[in-house]
Amino acid sequence: MPRLSDLDHPVPGRPAGRRAVLRLFALGGGALLLGACGSGRAEGRQWKVRHSEAEWRRRLTKAQYRVLREAGTERAFSSPLDRETRAGTFLCAGCGNALYSSRAKYDSGTGWPSFRQPLPGAIATATDFKLGYPRTEVLCADCGGHLGHVFGDGPRPTGKRYCMNGTAMRFRPA
Ligand SMILES: [Zn+2]
Repeated sequence: MPRLSDLDHPVPGRPAGRRAVLRLFALGGGALLLGACGSGRAEGRQWKVRHSEAEWRRRLTKAQYRVLREAGTERAFSSPLDRETRAGTFLCAGCGNALYSSRAKYDSGTGWPSFRQPLPGAIATATDFKLGYPRTEVLCADCGGHLGHVFGDGPRPTGKRYCMNGTAMRFRPA
């Protein structure tokens, strides 16, 4: 990164054109970076459950942290919760918030636990441009943890497919 002093006080022998480019980079680079990072998730929202990043790291496993706090995606077919068929409730692994009833679960064949609909008020959504096109990101309504995405190719009656990372959840049998 160019130092501000380099930009404001031209160094003898350094052509003006390069300074201008550096200045442009310094000004525009920040904006570009913000755009790239702005997946629309937790920024600017006040979640009921809040911890410092250090505290989240302490509370979660590495894999959970990667998904919940860094919006990572687990490998398809890697979560035992994808194959969970018992009656019960799927909870947020970050804060214990009840997210989905087993009654809403179905086998989408994608390798990720999939649901027709969340429990009332359980999730929040945001728009995510990570892959270059908009997708609807699904977050825990209480802690803002990243859970997965929702797509419009689910079964009736909702037509929705809540595609979740099993790593971001735990299962409580009924
Ligand atoms: Zn949560």
